[in-house]
Amino acid sequence: MGFIVQKYGGTSVGSVERMQAVAQRVKRYADEGHALVVVVSAMGKTTDGLVKLANEISSNPSRREMDMLLATGEQVSIALLSMALQELGQPAISLTGAQVGIVTEAAHSRARILRIATERLERHIQEGKVVVVAGFQGVSSGDDLEITTLGRGGSDTSAVALAAALKADFCEIYTDVPGILTTDPRLVPEAQLLDEITSDEMLELASLGAKVLHPRAVEIARNYGIPLVVRSSWTDEPGTWVVSPQSQPRPLEGLELVRPVDAVEFDTDQAKVSLLRIPDRPGVAARLFGEIASQDLDVDLIIQSIHESNTNDIAFTVTQASLQKAEAVANAILPALGRHQDPTLETAEVMVDRQIAKVAIAGAGMIGRPGVAAQMFTALANAGINIQMISTSEVKVSCVIRATDCDRAIATLCQAFEISQSPLGQSSSAFIPPKTGGTPPVRGVALDLKQARLAIRFVPDRPGMAAQIFNLLAQHNISVDMIIQSQRCRVMNGIATRDIACTVAQADAEPARLALMAAQTELGYGEVTVNPAIAKVSIVGAGMINQPGVAARMFAALAEQRINIQMIATSEIKISCLVDEDKAVQALQAIHAAFNLGGTQSIQVPA
Ligand code: ADP
Ligand code: ASP
Ligand code: MG
Repeated sequence: MGFIVQKYGGTSVGSVERMQAVAQRVKRYADEGHALVVVVSAMGKTTDGLVKLANEISSNPSRREMDMLLATGEQVSIALLSMALQELGQPAISLTGAQVGIVTEAAHSRARILRIATERLERHIQEGKVVVVAGFQGVSSGDDLEITTLGRGGSDTSAVALAAALKADFCEIYTDVPGILTTDPRLVPEAQLLDEITSDEMLELASLGAKVLHPRAVEIARNYGIPLVVRSSWTDEPGTWVVSPQSQPRPLEGLELVRPVDAVEFDTDQAKVSLLRIPDRPGVAARLFGEIASQDLDVDLIIQSIHESNTNDIAFTVTQASLQKAEAVANAILPALGRHQDPTLETAEVMVDRQIAKVAIAGAGMIGRPGVAAQMFTALANAGINIQMISTSEVKVSCVIRATDCDRAIATLCQAFEISQSPLGQSSSAFIPPKTGGTPPVRGVALDLKQARLAIRFVPDRPGMAAQIFNLLAQHNISVDMIIQSQRCRVMNGIATRDIACTVAQADAEPARLALMAAQTELGYGEVTVNPAIAKVSIVGAGMINQPGVAARMFAALAEQRINIQMIATSEIKISCLVDEDKAVQALQAIHAAFNLGGTQSIQVPA
């Protein structure tokens, strides 16, 4: 007999029949002697319907009233499921988030869970009842008892947080697909089921658009070491386990308010190769990294910034020992890349820099906290350290700086983020490379269609600019992703400038542009532009660490489809490319096929 938290998503409780099927499954578990807390989402597309209603009344409804409205969806489900259980003779009781005591911050529409009271839940369980809890909602701390919601898709987070608070044996997420697949089966029907995936990989996939799990749910499972499984509510198949490393015991108070950064990492064994003014057309990155891979050189960071006119810059880092070969490859390839190019283009050029170091901050707690990257840039700026390259993932921000600044940068970052233990050095990877040779380099491919690209032109190249820009966006509560600073310096009115590009949620793009334009004179940069018609396609896998050729294979798949890559950003276990929105699905399918991730059977997703 065990203690299990189960969560059923919208489709799984989308009709009376589905609700009854869920009740039967729950009763079966209860009959086997398990204690159960069951978390449910709103029925079917209820939450979308409520959002639509609100938008018919107001183009900018108050967040408080939105929470009041959206929280009703889950309340319908808990009452109906509880009735369905009682109808089967199973004692049950439904509770809202507030009734349980799921206490959150007061931040409407994106509240983080602070603590969960367990007394009432434990009492009902003792009485032999199944407790049915409303997902996605909580109540603010303090006297006001405001109803809050956790953000769209947040019922997964409610369930895993309950499992942590109740010290449940494991948490089951029931949904409309057989588990976690190599990609979204609605876009790629031959997507294959994974038996298991590490929480690090799943965290990246979830943050990069794989909707099957809410990233914060994965974060909690990882922090508290909760075994988590995603299964179909239509079958008894085993589904996919998300495996977490052994966790240190942590307090349950401030459950989701973990420190944003758990580690400062550095790597001084790095050198940078930049290709400036190479043609902006499909196939260029594929060609370059194909050659690099054929020399068996492992690249670490790859950055391709936004293009100015019809040329582009690509920069990458390699170990010092690989620099000579990498430089030779880059120089050899330059004439070939330029062959068909427009005679009006400026000449391309290769630049290398041995005197660099990479410093990074890492931690799942930075997800959804817009100020963390800005805090890093501020700390470096205050120490007078100029940032040459920036590359971000949802759980890591890496900066390339001058090698001579490295020690100071580490000291400054450890102080800023209160990291006392000695930083992870040299090998730089916080992820343990898989031991078995058979692990495929890529586990999953994700697509995010909800992002827009923001470009800030002619940003003065001096310490503190990135800090000011991203602090400004953080003050407006805008989370940024994929921050990329161009390699090329251009002189504008006598000062050296670079372009900075980043991606933001589409809904934040216009507010971000307005906020940046308002500070334009003060900060001294040029035009700020928004392109909403982009999509981000990413590959994720811990097996890509120290495995040359993975990036080249991804870029080649895009090149074969004549899909142009607008921006590239990498971290140890992921590579993201920005492409045109109307090529997004084609890009996803091509990349999925290029890594042989498809199975022979199509996955059927219930309507
Ligand atoms: P629920 O309502 O049960 O929470 P969601 O719609 O939030 O379900 O998430 C399940 C959906 O996630 C699937 O129907 C599928 O379309 C989508 N999805 C995206 N990426 C993946 C993936 N890698 N594996 C499985 N499903 C995925
Ligand atoms: N009902 C909420 C939503 O649609 C929460 C959830 O389903 O996880 O976003
Ligand atoms: Mg969901």
